[in-house]
Amino acid sequence: MTHAKSALRGNDDKRSVPEAVVNILRQRFSGRVETGAEHCRQHANTVTWLGNEAPDVVVFADALGDVCDLMQIAAEHRVPVIAFGGGTSLEGQVNAPHGGISLDLSRMNRIVAVHEGDLDATVEAGVTRVQLNTYLRDTGLFFPVDPGADTATLGGMAATRASGTNAMRYGTIRDNVVSLTAVLADGRIVKTGGRARKSAAGYDLTHLMIGTEGTLGIITEMTVRLYGIPEQSVVATYAFSSVAGAAEATMLAMQMGGLGLARIELLDSLQMEAINSYSKMDFELAPTLFVEFHGTTAAVKEQVAVFHDIACEAGGYNFKQAEREEERRKLWKARHDAFWATKAAWPGRLSLATDVCVPISRLAECIAETEADIKRLGLVSPIVGHVGDGNFHATPVIDPDNRQERAALEEMLDRLAARAIAMEGTCTGEHGIGQGKIRYLEKEFGAEGVAMMRSIKQALDPDGILNPGKVFA
Ligand SMILES: Cc1cc2nc3c(=O)[nH]c(=O)nc-3n(C[C@H](O)[C@H](O)[C@H](O)COP(=O)(O)OP(=O)(O)OC[C@H]3O[C@@H](n4cnc5c(N)ncnc54)[C@H](O)[C@@H]3O)c2cc1C
Repeated sequence: MTHAKSALRGNDDKRSVPEAVVNILRQRFSGRVETGAEHCRQHANTVTWLGNEAPDVVVFADALGDVCDLMQIAAEHRVPVIAFGGGTSLEGQVNAPHGGISLDLSRMNRIVAVHEGDLDATVEAGVTRVQLNTYLRDTGLFFPVDPGADTATLGGMAATRASGTNAMRYGTIRDNVVSLTAVLADGRIVKTGGRARKSAAGYDLTHLMIGTEGTLGIITEMTVRLYGIPEQSVVATYAFSSVAGAAEATMLAMQMGGLGLARIELLDSLQMEAINSYSKMDFELAPTLFVEFHGTTAAVKEQVAVFHDIACEAGGYNFKQAEREEERRKLWKARHDAFWATKAAWPGRLSLATDVCVPISRLAECIAETEADIKRLGLVSPIVGHVGDGNFHATPVIDPDNRQERAALEEMLDRLAARAIAMEGTCTGEHGIGQGKIRYLEKEFGAEGVAMMRSIKQALDPDGILNPGKVFA
């Protein structure tokens, strides 16, 4: 990327968007340009242990034409552009290490069309899952991909290749985007397909864009899959004497073809203590599985019985069941709030949600070795995970001023990523690479894999203006 450096801010240059460009933006976007320090700070990473690297200016887009015009201005002046949805990403993806323009898409939140008969909806990129599901309330349909942050936008979810508790039955965002519209680095618009459920036409541009963290283009609109709300949903919880027992039960259930499970989530005893306190629950302080079954009333009854035998055989006890909508909602809200519960349980400390993912047969071993590392390194780290997918979050909490703890954390992270990759898994099941995991990308894909990604980046964004400093060094 020979041109890229001209777009990037050096250490001694505090602004990469010249005043003249800010003036052009003000002319084109009038009241939708912000340069105040707090606005800029809020448009960089505020969620995790990674530092806050604010953009120079924030521009709010209302429509596709705004995004095209902004990209043309940025391309002409070689200014970095960082797309911003809800700002909930966990690996510093919205930081602006080279300064630039934060392009806030949250106001592009129109639901363009719902095709009930085709089970799909077309939405602008700033729509959130909660907003879409509220809109769908009277249709009997729902959109299932549910990362723990309610304010995440569908565009941001596509850009980070997100998932959530429902992925084992309904897939991740990758499986649920039918097609999308994106604006390229020079302002051109690309539509990656129609609404057909499958297509064998040419390269798969839809999936090329997914997971690229705003480095190849700006997603402005997406067509996503919808599902019928199941006739019956039941949640069961089981305590276990060890995390290994809970992981074993998960593996056995998955090996029986998943049993029609919609969700299976594991929380260790430290995490249960944090959510009891944060969400005012009274769970036993033991490793716990939250399991949800979807289907007809008869099918769910059968699934619950089969899973019960599996769980008991693997040492599960203290079985509880929730059928009422209100009870189920409360349970899942507590699970979704696990990240905030961890932050609240250790105030003043920094937390970091790791997210390795391994083949299900290696899950118990991967968790056991990670637990041993946490103990050996003297770290505090609750564990919670979408274990039905082989994905778990060890969330170390450290004192940022304690050099010994920081060193222990680095060692734990490096070993965790190496372990998952050695088990034919990945360093990130859902949070993405951002800034925080750049050093693992080559370990996972090898030099050739990363070189191929760089070639794609070079072809689509030769000046390196789209979210520089993310995914690659
Ligand atoms: C409490 C909590 C729980 C979470 N739980 C989960 C979980 O269970 N599963 C999971 O997968 N993630 C989880 N996350 C992470 C987070 O919610 C996801 O990364 C989310 O998908 C990001 O969406 P966003 O709109 O906030 O994107 P942002 O954070 O605004 O942006 C993320 C990245 O996408 C790019 N981007 C944003 N919008 C667009 C666009 N329209 N076009 C192109 N690029 C764009 C940005 O430039 C950036 O690189 C959690 C986060 C929190 C805080």
